[in-house]
Amino acid sequence: MSLIIDSKLPNVGQSIFSVMSQLATQQQALNLAQGFPEFNPPSELIQFVTDAMNSGKNQYAPMPGYLSFREEIAKKESEIHGNRLNPESEITVVPGATVGLFVAIQTLVKPGDEVLILEPAYDSYEPAIALAGGKTVRVTINLHDFSIPWDVVKSKVNAKTKLIIVNTPHNPLGTVFSQEDWNALSDIVQQSNAYVLSDEVYEHMVFDGGKHISVLNIEGLKNRCIKVSSFGKTYHCTGWKLGYLSACESMTAELRKVYQFLAFACNSTAQFGIENFMKIPNQWEKNLSVFYEQKRNLFREHLQNSQWKLLPCQGSYFQILKYEGTQEMSLMNDYEFSVELTKVAKIASIPVSAFCENREKTNLLRFCFAKNDETIIQAANILCSL
Ligand code: PMP
Ligand code: GLN
Repeated sequence: MSLIIDSKLPNVGQSIFSVMSQLATQQQALNLAQGFPEFNPPSELIQFVTDAMNSGKNQYAPMPGYLSFREEIAKKESEIHGNRLNPESEITVVPGATVGLFVAIQTLVKPGDEVLILEPAYDSYEPAIALAGGKTVRVTINLHDFSIPWDVVKSKVNAKTKLIIVNTPHNPLGTVFSQEDWNALSDIVQQSNAYVLSDEVYEHMVFDGGKHISVLNIEGLKNRCIKVSSFGKTYHCTGWKLGYLSACESMTAELRKVYQFLAFACNSTAQFGIENFMKIPNQWEKNLSVFYEQKRNLFREHLQNSQWKLLPCQGSYFQILKYEGTQEMSLMNDYEFSVELTKVAKIASIPVSAFCENREKTNLLRFCFAKNDETIIQAANILCSL
């Protein structure tokens, strides 16, 4: 007889990223579904990690991360975003942004608290809120022009609202917060007891001369927020699972209380490797936007004459395509359609409904363009032929 467990997450199944990656492998399809680069981290970085391993840096790192590493992170934060952070008391290295988000939510959310998220929303937020005993309150981003209805956000914030989670550049929509978005959020937060958790894992991928504005740049928010960053996105090493949390000293003290019992510390060799790579004078982070902008443009140019509608993409490494098409296609929901495309056309994507609670049919699919140019062209050719 199988064991019946009183599940803490009764409505949660396998994540869409696992589902689509498995299907892509099984079907030998191009995988533009799960978001990860098709290319390696820079060779110097790989060498630094190898050197760290060979020189014996293989034991536990200090709980918040090596101080010398946090000092390099603080320098980058200052140079690139103008954020002034104390490496000793305001930066905590964590094993990837997913863990960082989880720690932040566990630190702040108590049973009965409400947490507001903007939907479509990254899939890890809601289960983490549920595990902390919180209640998720959703506000839907307008799927026609991707604008955020700040008046609706305002109307849903009340005395129970503990946290508002935002994500810029946005996964899956590829939108980027403007100064006006931040001002609107800041005004709402000033009149509440809420904190802001800002998921900025695509902070170095902003296109068309746009600028990433971090929550830490917003005067009214910088002392009541947590910023989440991921090295996996920035250095093409999603498999290493390394990121960091930035927050004011008192918030960081609370975050560390939780984090020390979740993982205690993270991968020592990756920390050494990335620290040394950060010390090389280069424009890696700045060049990343140009690098991905070219990939976005290549994908879009090759889709110009297709049946797909290309929605705007201001940042991240995701392009949303809208389908209308034949009657047969319009009968399918976006999940069924993405499965069908993987099986028949041999190209895997992510249905946008996977980021929504009750939306079966968005007619939107997300494609990851963090791929080699040949793969991008091959994918676009398949999509054009449909
Ligand atoms: N937040 C968003 C919006 C993401 O897209 C991802 C992963 N792609 C994460 C968090 C998790 O990042 P990590 O792999 O560093 O855990
Ligand atoms: N964040 C990546 C994406 O959006 C995938 C991460 C994961 O597989 N959990 O595709």
